[in-house]
Amino acid sequence: MLKNTNTPLIIPAARGSLCLLLALFLGACGTDAPVESGTAVIDTGKIHRWKMVTTWPANFPVFQEAPEMFAENVRIMSNGRLDINVFAGGELVPALQVFDAVSQGAVEMGHGSAYYWAGKVPAAQFFSTVPFGMEQKGVEAWLYHGGGLELWNELYEPFNVIALPIGNSGVQMGGWFNKKIETIADLKGLRMRIPGLGGKVLDRAGGNPILMSAGEVYTALERGTIDATEWVGPLHDLRLGLNRAARYYYYPGWHEPGTELELLVNKARWEGLPADLQQIVKQAAAATSAWTFSALEYLNSQALKELSTKKNVQVLPFPAEVMEELRVITRQTLEGEAEKDPEFKRVYEAYLAFQETYQPWHRLTSEALGK
Ligand code: CA
Repeated sequence: MLKNTNTPLIIPAARGSLCLLLALFLGACGTDAPVESGTAVIDTGKIHRWKMVTTWPANFPVFQEAPEMFAENVRIMSNGRLDINVFAGGELVPALQVFDAVSQGAVEMGHGSAYYWAGKVPAAQFFSTVPFGMEQKGVEAWLYHGGGLELWNELYEPFNVIALPIGNSGVQMGGWFNKKIETIADLKGLRMRIPGLGGKVLDRAGGNPILMSAGEVYTALERGTIDATEWVGPLHDLRLGLNRAARYYYYPGWHEPGTELELLVNKARWEGLPADLQQIVKQAAAATSAWTFSALEYLNSQALKELSTKKNVQVLPFPAEVMEELRVITRQTLEGEAEKDPEFKRVYEAYLAFQETYQPWHRLTSEALGK
């Protein structure tokens, strides 16, 4: 486990079950009182006690450590004035109800990824990842500088939620298979755990995408309930033991080329924070972003070495023609989704417009270096 070794982990001991119950039933906990938006008054004495719920299991490497580190840094930078208590998925609310909990004000903050809310906001998926789409560099260039973040927040506006980028998974792995994938026909009838737009692409390619939670994946693959699964990358895949349930480990993760993580904030509570605390949250989120991506790059490289040298895993590339056909099917899938939902279409067009300018630069740099 990585910890922020420069600063001691401060876990306030005074918060107990009463606070948790208040959060669930009254939607409030702590000493917050309304603060006028836009005032220059800084309430230096007031302590804001907030709660953050995440979509990750407790002890999920990096993804769950990141929000804990974020909260710790906010606490230190604000001299304890913004005190965020972090709960893993299921501890306070179920993982997939994080967005609703923040939207309804039952908690102030959430940490997850936007594709989890695809059922509610299909266009949110662009702020998570797009099959064959941009990697972390391009995604974050779009979000921070190319109008992406504004668009993202427009989508969440009706839900009383603000989104901030807070990290990126990097390029994921293609997944674990018990048979070799040599042509696109090998995907026909394949029962694979693969969520989101990638799942829709597999469906269009003749496969059978299946959704299941982290706790079910290993057993389902080991018992043959599913034929294949994608998960994250070497670090998380090794931790889940997927190398013991499947023979072939394919790359690259065409379906998740750079999954962005999000910090959700209840809009009314955000507007009630003094300006200096808002700035601390923004800067801590940016710092957590950098930590998350670099930690995953480091730990994935270590875990890949272990998988390929000690675990005898066969690490294989998807054949070029399979990749090309998946790319074509992806375009058809995205266009099909855009026809069904005007908001999806609007964000898709904005994403493509940004990518059209970004991609030539990417080609002259990372691609030209063979990266
Ligand atoms: Ca994944």
